[in-house]
Formats: sequence, structure tokens, C-alpha cells
Amino acid sequence: MKILVVNAGSSSLKYQLIDMGTKEVVAKGLCERIAIQGSRLTYKPAGKQPCVVERHMNDHTDAIKMVLDALVDPEIGVLKSMDEIDAVGHRIVHGGEKFSESTLLTDEVLSVIESLTELAPLHNPANLMGIRACKAIMPNTPMVGVFDTAFHQTMPMEAFLYGLPYAAYTDLMVRRYGFHGTSHKYVTQRALELLGKPVEETKIITCHLGNGSSITAVRGGKSIDTSMGFTPLEGIPMGTRCGSMDPAIVTYLMDKLDLDVNGINAYMNKKSGVYGISGISSDFRDLHDAAEKGDEKAKAALRVFAYNVKKYIGAYAAALNGVDGIVFTAGIGENDRVLRAMVLEGLDYLGVDVDFEYNNTCPRGEEAELSTKNSKVKVFVIPTDEEMMIAQDTAKLAAK
Ligand code: ADP
Repeated sequence: MKILVVNAGSSSLKYQLIDMGTKEVVAKGLCERIAIQGSRLTYKPAGKQPCVVERHMNDHTDAIKMVLDALVDPEIGVLKSMDEIDAVGHRIVHGGEKFSESTLLTDEVLSVIESLTELAPLHNPANLMGIRACKAIMPNTPMVGVFDTAFHQTMPMEAFLYGLPYAAYTDLMVRRYGFHGTSHKYVTQRALELLGKPVEETKIITCHLGNGSSITAVRGGKSIDTSMGFTPLEGIPMGTRCGSMDPAIVTYLMDKLDLDVNGINAYMNKKSGVYGISGISSDFRDLHDAAEKGDEKAKAALRVFAYNVKKYIGAYAAALNGVDGIVFTAGIGENDRVLRAMVLEGLDYLGVDVDFEYNNTCPRGEEAELSTKNSKVKVFVIPTDEEMMIAQDTAKLAAK
């Protein structure tokens, strides 16, 4: 079975063609600058050089057409015909309270997704454009939607409700939704395999640390709390996002800096986080370089980040009444050994015993067990694979 995984943004579209038999990515790539001057397709068949096609794309339908043309091209293609694609899995950012699982994308489902636009005004309309484009070109191929929020729909009320008037929840949909669910679910599945305990009894904390970061408490394979909230701005300070803070700061800064709603949103989403603190970069490699040269703000940014991850681990260990496994994933979690050590130092009260030397030498971006044999809590690095998770869900639903 071959699954095409599509992640459509407003002017970009990432794709991967995955063979579910071999679990291999047969081809992947990206359309950029859709409907903007200078559009281009990057196409990379497995084991071959990537190729770039520069041609104008009017819309997402043009983009999907170019992707399919490349996939069936007699010279560089990997398929004889489009019919070899058994199903298409679409990443969808927001499923609100409507979707707790991946779902077949019928017309009825599409209108429900459309009704959630207010919750994700930048993302859901772009995701829908990608879906509609694929439906237009592949009307007989099953389409499946996989939601970033779905995994967190198992959170109990005390974890998802904010301390606001109840009507904010019932009338305005204000509650914790959580994001990165596909990634948290993927690494949870793998951690459950590695821990080998009965699933119902297993308590895991998954730390997805990338450009955007979130931490999730998982009991019995189900999310019971997560650090991102109504939007992906809540939680730990991130690359450029501020994370949680005293909500009164919002109105104070609007007043002092003379910012309107758009202004404060840009300030908190694009100018804050470790970038804002350091004034240098949102990339942790740059921050470590600067810190090594003695830059105090870069050091502060790294310490604030690590401290906040540690704080969530403590909070979620309390929420779970203990923890069996802690997982690090995504760009920082998989690669940044120094940051991982900063988080893991001083967790011995939980029964965490880390082999710090191995943490420092284990290959980057690969699965690793960082805890010692005697550690009560296992600590893993598990590379995430959101596309594979989307493909798995898609294959399951399409087979039905
Ligand atoms: P996205 O949210 O865009 O998918 P990623 O999960 O790919 O983000 O994470 C990207 C971030 O990972 C980079 O901004 C950088 O901070 C961090 N990162 C990647 N490689 C390394 C590395 N070798 N050392 C430290 N940090 C790294």
C-alpha cells in the first residue's frame, strides 16, 4: 500500500510518498511560494539527487498536479500511474473538540473543519486548500485527515479548563486543546514498546522540543495534560514564542509599547522566546556557540528553556503520580545533548539516573536510552516521525 502524506500551508505544500509494506519514504519534497512569484517544486526520489522545477503555481491544485507529474514522470518518477497511490493522508492543525481521532474526509467532515477556522485562522484554511486540491485531482482516492489536536482530546476537564467564566468555554470554545499530538502519539507508541509494561499502567512524559515545543503527560497511552493550550503559544518559552506568563503582561505591554492586537501577537509569537531573551537567534546551535564565547543573554535563554522543561516534568510527574519513562524528541530533543543534560540534572528525587557520558556520545538523531540500568525511570531519545504516523492512520482508515 502506498500513501501520499500532504502537509499544506498557506503558500507551501510538503509531501511524502510512503510505502507501507517496506515503511520506506519512496519520494518526498516541497512546493514553495504557491501563488507567489517564483514558485518552485523540490522533488527527491529515494536514493537519488533532488531535482527542482521552477514553474508558476496559481494555487494548491497546480501544486498537487506538479507533485503527481513528478511522481509518475518516466525518468525521475517512482510510480507508473497515479492509481498506485492508495490513499492520501492530510495533516490538519485544528480539530477542536470535534475530532478525537483521524477521520475519512467526507464533504460533511470538511464543513466541520471549516467551522473551526476561528480556532486556527492561519492553518485550517490552508490545510483545506490542500485537501480540496487533492480531491479535485484524485476524486476516487480515499482522503484521511490527521489532526494535531486529536491525541489530546482524552485530557480530563480539570486539565483542559481555564480559570475563566464557564461561558468562555461553552460559547467561545476557549479551553486547552494542545498541539504536536501526532508527534506525541508516535513517540508514545514507541516508548510503550520499549518500556514493555502493560499499557494501562504506563506513565510517560514526552518532550517535543523543536522550533515549537510542547510537553505531554501520558497515562495508559492517552494524553492527560499538555503544555500547549488554546493556541501553540502556551507552555515553555520556545524559539520565538514567549510561552506561559502572567496574562496581565499582555495588556501592560500593549499599553507601554503602544501595540494593537496584531502588534502584541507578533511580539509574543515572533520576537520572544529564546530569540527574544538572547537577541541572537532562535536556533539552539547559535545559542550554544554564543554561550561558549561568554554571551550572558544566550546563557540565560538556554537556562530559562531548560528550567521550564524541568518544571513541566515535575508537574506532570505529580499529575501522573510517578513516571516510568521520559522521552526527548524533535530538533532539540534529538540533537542537543547539552540541553538534555541541563534538563536531566537534579531529577534524582524522581528516580532518574542518567548516563551523562552516553548522553554526550550517543549518535545525534537516533533512538537511544540515556538512563542507567538501575534507573527507576527510563529516559529515551526517540526520533519523531509525524509523516509515518499520518501514513499509518491513513492506511488503517483506507483499508476499512
Ligand atoms: P520544527 O518545529 O520546525 O519542525 P524541529 O523539530 O526541526 O522544528 O527543530 C528545529 C530546531 O532544532 C532548530 O531551531 C534548532 O534549535 C534545533 N536543532 C537542530 N539541530 C540541532 C543540533 N545539532 N544541536 C542543537 N539544536 C539543534
